[in-house]
Amino acid sequence: MRVFIRHALRGFRGRIAMLQKLYWRLHQNFLMQDRIPQYRAILAEAKARGYQFLTISDLADCASKRARLPPLSLVLRNDVDSDCATARKMFEVDKALGIRATYYFRLSTLDGLLMRDIQVYGAEVGYHFEEVAAAAKRYGFREPADVIPYLSSIRESFRRNIKRYRSVAGKFPKTVASHGDFANRAIRTSNCCIVDQEIRDEFGIVAESYDEWLNSPVTMRLADCAAPRWWSPTPLAAALMQNPKCLYVLVHPRQWRANIRENIAMPTGVSLSVLDIFLAAVACRRC
Ligand SMILES: [Zn+2]
Repeated sequence: MRVFIRHALRGFRGRIAMLQKLYWRLHQNFLMQDRIPQYRAILAEAKARGYQFLTISDLADCASKRARLPPLSLVLRNDVDSDCATARKMFEVDKALGIRATYYFRLSTLDGLLMRDIQVYGAEVGYHFEEVAAAAKRYGFREPADVIPYLSSIRESFRRNIKRYRSVAGKFPKTVASHGDFANRAIRTSNCCIVDQEIRDEFGIVAESYDEWLNSPVTMRLADCAAPRWWSPTPLAAALMQNPKCLYVLVHPRQWRANIRENIAMPTGVSLSVLDIFLAAVACRRC
Protein backbone atom coordinates (compact mmCIF):
# COMPACT_ATOMS: atom_id res chain seq x y z
CA MET A 1 0.00 0.00 0.00
CA ARG A 2 2.80 2.38 1.00
CA VAL A 3 4.62 1.64 -2.27
CA PHE A 4 1.40 2.29 -4.20
CA ILE A 5 0.88 5.68 -2.47
CA ARG A 6 4.53 6.67 -3.07
CA HIS A 7 4.21 5.72 -6.75
CA ALA A 8 0.94 7.67 -7.10
CA LEU A 9 2.46 10.74 -5.40
CA ARG A 10 5.49 10.62 -7.70
CA GLY A 11 3.21 10.46 -10.75
CA PHE A 12 1.11 13.35 -9.43
CA ARG A 13 4.21 15.53 -8.85
CA GLY A 14 5.43 14.67 -12.36
CA ARG A 15 2.15 15.83 -13.89
CA ILE A 16 2.20 19.06 -11.85
CA ALA A 17 5.78 19.73 -12.99
CA MET A 18 4.76 19.11 -16.62
CA LEU A 19 1.80 21.48 -16.34
CA GLN A 20 4.03 24.16 -14.79
CA LYS A 21 6.49 23.74 -17.63
CA LEU A 22 3.68 24.02 -20.16
CA TYR A 23 2.31 27.13 -18.45
CA TRP A 24 5.67 28.91 -18.50
CA ARG A 25 6.31 27.93 -22.11
CA LEU A 26 2.95 29.34 -23.20
CA HIS A 27 3.54 32.40 -21.05
CA GLN A 28 6.92 33.08 -22.63
CA ASN A 29 5.79 32.43 -26.20
CA PHE A 30 2.52 34.36 -26.14
CA LEU A 31 1.67 36.16 -22.87
CA MET A 32 4.92 37.56 -21.49
CA GLN A 33 5.05 41.32 -21.00
CA ASP A 34 7.74 43.17 -22.90
CA ARG A 35 10.90 42.87 -20.78
CA ILE A 36 12.93 45.31 -22.89
CA PRO A 37 12.47 48.05 -20.22
CA GLN A 38 14.12 45.65 -17.73
CA TYR A 39 16.94 45.05 -20.20
CA ARG A 40 17.43 48.81 -20.46
CA ALA A 41 17.27 49.33 -16.67
CA ILE A 42 19.80 46.64 -15.77
CA LEU A 43 22.31 47.75 -18.41
CA ALA A 44 21.88 51.38 -17.29
CA GLU A 45 22.59 50.20 -13.74
CA ALA A 46 25.78 48.46 -14.89
CA LYS A 47 26.88 51.59 -16.70
CA ALA A 48 26.12 53.76 -13.65
CA ARG A 49 28.29 51.43 -11.55
CA GLY A 50 31.24 52.20 -13.82
CA TYR A 51 31.25 49.14 -16.07
CA GLN A 52 32.79 49.57 -19.51
CA PHE A 53 31.19 47.42 -22.18
CA LEU A 54 33.41 45.22 -24.33
CA THR A 55 32.68 43.31 -27.51
CA ILE A 56 34.10 39.81 -27.90
CA SER A 57 36.79 41.30 -30.19
CA ASP A 58 37.68 43.77 -27.41
CA LEU A 59 37.88 40.86 -24.98
CA ALA A 60 40.22 39.07 -27.40
CA ASP A 61 42.47 42.15 -27.47
CA CYS A 62 42.54 42.24 -23.65
CA ALA A 63 43.11 38.48 -23.33
CA SER A 64 46.03 38.64 -25.76
CA LYS A 65 47.45 41.74 -24.00
CA ARG A 66 47.01 43.96 -27.06
CA ALA A 67 44.77 46.16 -24.92
CA ARG A 68 44.42 46.84 -21.23
CA LEU A 69 41.38 45.42 -19.43
CA PRO A 70 39.30 48.25 -17.86
CA PRO A 71 38.99 48.19 -14.05
CA LEU A 72 35.35 47.06 -14.44
CA SER A 73 34.31 45.47 -17.73
CA LEU A 74 31.10 43.87 -18.96
CA VAL A 75 31.21 41.67 -22.05
CA LEU A 76 27.70 41.68 -23.51
CA ARG A 77 26.97 38.91 -26.03
CA ASN A 78 23.63 38.50 -27.77
CA ASP A 79 22.98 35.18 -29.53
CA VAL A 80 20.26 35.89 -32.08
CA ASP A 81 18.90 32.34 -32.20
CA SER A 82 15.53 33.74 -33.33
CA ASP A 83 13.49 36.95 -33.45
CA CYS A 84 15.52 39.63 -35.24
CA ALA A 85 12.79 42.20 -34.45
CA THR A 86 13.52 41.89 -30.71
CA ALA A 87 17.27 41.84 -31.42
CA ARG A 88 16.73 45.19 -33.19
CA LYS A 89 14.94 46.57 -30.10
CA MET A 90 17.80 45.39 -27.86
CA PHE A 91 20.31 47.02 -30.20
CA GLU A 92 18.32 50.30 -30.05
CA VAL A 93 18.62 50.15 -26.24
CA ASP A 94 22.39 49.56 -26.51
CA LYS A 95 22.66 52.58 -28.80
CA ALA A 96 20.56 54.80 -26.52
CA LEU A 97 22.81 53.88 -23.59
CA GLY A 98 25.99 54.29 -25.63
CA ILE A 99 27.14 50.72 -25.03
CA ARG A 100 28.53 48.12 -27.45
CA ALA A 101 27.69 44.43 -27.58
CA THR A 102 28.39 41.50 -29.89
CA TYR A 103 25.47 40.04 -31.83
CA TYR A 104 25.87 36.52 -33.25
CA PHE A 105 23.60 35.50 -36.13
CA ARG A 106 22.69 31.99 -37.27
CA LEU A 107 22.10 31.26 -40.95
CA SER A 108 18.37 31.28 -40.13
CA THR A 109 18.51 34.78 -38.58
CA LEU A 110 20.85 36.62 -40.96
CA ASP A 111 19.45 40.16 -41.24
CA GLY A 112 21.54 42.35 -43.54
CA LEU A 113 20.07 45.67 -42.46
CA LEU A 114 20.40 45.00 -38.72
CA MET A 115 23.91 43.57 -39.13
CA ARG A 116 25.10 46.59 -41.08
CA ASP A 117 23.47 49.01 -38.59
CA ILE A 118 25.25 47.28 -35.70
CA GLN A 119 28.59 47.50 -37.52
CA VAL A 120 28.11 51.15 -38.54
CA TYR A 121 27.36 51.96 -34.89
CA GLY A 122 30.71 50.39 -33.93
CA ALA A 123 29.49 47.25 -32.19
CA GLU A 124 30.27 43.74 -33.40
CA VAL A 125 28.46 41.07 -35.39
CA GLY A 126 29.59 37.48 -35.77
CA TYR A 127 28.59 34.07 -37.06
CA HIS A 128 26.63 31.75 -34.72
CA PHE A 129 27.57 28.43 -36.29
CA GLU A 130 26.00 25.00 -35.89
CA GLU A 131 27.41 22.77 -38.61
CA VAL A 132 28.13 19.79 -36.29
CA ALA A 133 24.53 19.83 -35.04
CA ALA A 134 23.25 20.06 -38.63
CA ALA A 135 25.37 17.05 -39.64
CA ALA A 136 24.26 15.11 -36.54
CA LYS A 137 20.63 15.53 -37.59
CA ARG A 138 21.35 14.75 -41.24
CA TYR A 139 23.43 11.60 -40.65
CA GLY A 140 21.93 10.42 -37.35
CA PHE A 141 25.02 10.68 -35.14
CA ARG A 142 24.64 9.05 -31.73
CA GLU A 143 28.00 9.60 -30.03
CA PRO A 144 31.12 11.80 -30.25
CA ALA A 145 33.07 9.28 -32.36
CA ASP A 146 30.42 9.49 -35.12
CA VAL A 147 31.54 13.07 -35.91
CA ILE A 148 35.17 12.21 -36.73
CA PRO A 149 34.75 10.61 -40.20
CA TYR A 150 32.64 13.61 -41.26
CA LEU A 151 34.91 16.38 -39.92
CA SER A 152 36.28 17.43 -43.29
CA SER A 153 32.85 17.59 -44.96
CA ILE A 154 31.46 19.50 -41.94
CA ARG A 155 34.33 21.99 -42.31
CA GLU A 156 33.43 22.38 -45.99
CA SER A 157 29.87 23.23 -44.91
CA PHE A 158 31.29 25.82 -42.52
CA ARG A 159 33.31 27.35 -45.39
CA ARG A 160 30.22 27.59 -47.60
CA ASN A 161 28.08 28.99 -44.81
CA ILE A 162 30.53 31.63 -43.61
CA LYS A 163 30.73 32.88 -47.21
CA ARG A 164 26.95 33.16 -47.17
CA TYR A 165 27.26 35.08 -43.89
CA ARG A 166 29.73 37.45 -45.58
CA SER A 167 27.38 38.05 -48.51
CA VAL A 168 24.81 39.36 -46.00
CA ALA A 169 27.06 41.07 -43.41
CA GLY A 170 29.43 42.61 -45.94
CA LYS A 171 32.56 41.04 -44.46
CA PHE A 172 33.81 37.96 -42.66
CA PRO A 173 33.39 37.98 -38.85
CA LYS A 174 36.38 38.54 -36.56
CA THR A 175 34.83 36.22 -33.98
CA VAL A 176 32.40 33.31 -34.14
CA ALA A 177 30.30 31.54 -31.49
CA SER A 178 29.08 27.97 -31.37
CA HIS A 179 25.29 27.57 -31.09
CA GLY A 180 24.04 25.01 -28.56
CA ASP A 181 21.47 22.66 -30.09
CA PHE A 182 19.73 19.62 -28.59
CA ALA A 183 21.67 17.59 -31.20
CA ASN A 184 24.97 18.78 -29.67
CA ARG A 185 23.78 17.70 -26.23
CA ALA A 186 22.61 14.33 -27.58
CA ILE A 187 26.04 13.50 -29.05
CA ARG A 188 27.96 15.34 -26.28
CA THR A 189 29.91 17.33 -28.87
CA SER A 190 29.85 21.10 -29.43
CA ASN A 191 30.35 22.73 -32.82
CA CYS A 192 33.68 24.25 -31.69
CA CYS A 193 35.75 21.29 -32.89
CA ILE A 194 35.49 22.36 -36.54
CA VAL A 195 37.07 25.79 -36.07
CA ASP A 196 40.71 24.70 -36.33
CA GLN A 197 43.70 26.95 -37.04
CA GLU A 198 43.47 26.41 -40.79
CA ILE A 199 39.86 27.68 -40.85
CA ARG A 200 40.79 30.61 -38.59
CA ASP A 201 43.67 31.63 -40.85
CA GLU A 202 41.57 31.21 -43.99
CA PHE A 203 38.82 33.58 -42.85
CA GLY A 204 40.69 35.86 -40.42
CA ILE A 205 38.82 34.55 -37.38
CA VAL A 206 40.50 35.91 -34.25
CA ALA A 207 38.54 33.89 -31.69
CA GLU A 208 35.77 31.40 -31.08
CA SER A 209 33.71 32.58 -28.11
CA TYR A 210 34.46 29.46 -26.02
CA ASP A 211 38.25 29.57 -26.54
CA GLU A 212 39.94 29.07 -23.17
CA TRP A 213 42.52 31.83 -23.76
CA LEU A 214 39.76 34.29 -24.72
CA ASN A 215 37.89 33.73 -21.48
CA SER A 216 40.94 33.96 -19.21
CA PRO A 217 40.14 37.56 -18.05
CA VAL A 218 36.50 36.67 -17.20
CA THR A 219 35.83 36.58 -13.45
CA MET A 220 32.07 35.94 -13.52
CA ARG A 221 29.67 34.76 -16.21
CA LEU A 222 25.93 34.43 -16.42
CA ALA A 223 23.21 34.01 -19.02
CA ASP A 224 19.53 34.75 -19.38
CA CYS A 225 17.26 31.73 -19.44
CA ALA A 226 13.60 30.80 -19.81
CA ALA A 227 10.81 31.83 -17.43
CA PRO A 228 10.40 31.78 -14.51
CA ARG A 229 14.11 31.79 -13.58
CA TRP A 230 15.21 34.36 -16.21
CA TRP A 231 18.90 34.19 -15.21
CA SER A 232 21.41 31.43 -14.60
CA PRO A 233 23.20 30.94 -12.28
CA THR A 234 22.41 34.32 -10.72
CA PRO A 235 20.46 37.45 -11.75
CA LEU A 236 22.49 40.22 -13.34
CA ALA A 237 21.34 42.68 -10.65
CA ALA A 238 22.72 40.39 -7.93
CA ALA A 239 25.96 39.90 -9.88
CA LEU A 240 26.49 43.66 -10.14
CA MET A 241 26.26 43.96 -6.32
CA GLN A 242 29.41 41.81 -6.13
CA ASN A 243 31.41 44.14 -8.44
CA PRO A 244 33.07 41.40 -10.52
CA LYS A 245 36.06 42.78 -12.41
CA CYS A 246 35.16 41.19 -15.75
CA LEU A 247 31.54 40.12 -16.10
CA TYR A 248 30.44 38.09 -19.15
CA VAL A 249 26.70 38.28 -19.89
CA LEU A 250 24.98 36.17 -22.56
CA VAL A 251 21.46 37.13 -23.66
CA HIS A 252 18.95 35.90 -26.25
CA PRO A 253 16.10 37.94 -27.81
CA ARG A 254 13.42 35.35 -27.05
CA GLN A 255 13.85 35.78 -23.28
CA TRP A 256 12.95 39.49 -23.48
CA ARG A 257 9.82 39.80 -25.61
CA ALA A 258 7.03 37.50 -26.80
CA ASN A 259 7.10 37.95 -30.55
CA ILE A 260 3.75 36.26 -31.13
CA ARG A 261 3.82 36.54 -34.91
CA GLU A 262 7.24 34.91 -35.07
CA ASN A 263 6.34 32.23 -32.53
CA ILE A 264 3.34 31.27 -34.66
CA ALA A 265 4.94 31.66 -38.09
CA MET A 266 8.56 30.56 -37.67
CA PRO A 267 9.48 26.87 -37.84
CA THR A 268 10.74 26.84 -34.21
CA GLY A 269 7.57 28.56 -33.09
CA VAL A 270 5.40 26.05 -34.90
CA SER A 271 7.22 23.12 -33.39
CA LEU A 272 6.96 24.67 -29.92
CA SER A 273 3.26 25.34 -30.37
CA VAL A 274 2.60 21.79 -31.54
CA LEU A 275 4.62 20.51 -28.57
CA ASP A 276 2.63 22.78 -26.25
CA ILE A 277 -0.66 21.37 -27.53
CA PHE A 278 0.66 17.81 -27.32
CA LEU A 279 1.88 18.32 -23.74
CA ALA A 280 -1.44 19.90 -22.79
CA ALA A 281 -3.42 17.01 -24.29
CA VAL A 282 -1.25 14.40 -22.54
CA ALA A 283 -1.43 16.27 -19.23
CA CYS A 284 -5.23 16.63 -19.41
CA ARG A 285 -5.80 12.96 -20.31
CA ARG A 286 -3.73 11.79 -17.35
CA CYS A 287 -5.23 14.27 -14.84
ZN1 LIG B 1 22.41 29.86 -29.98
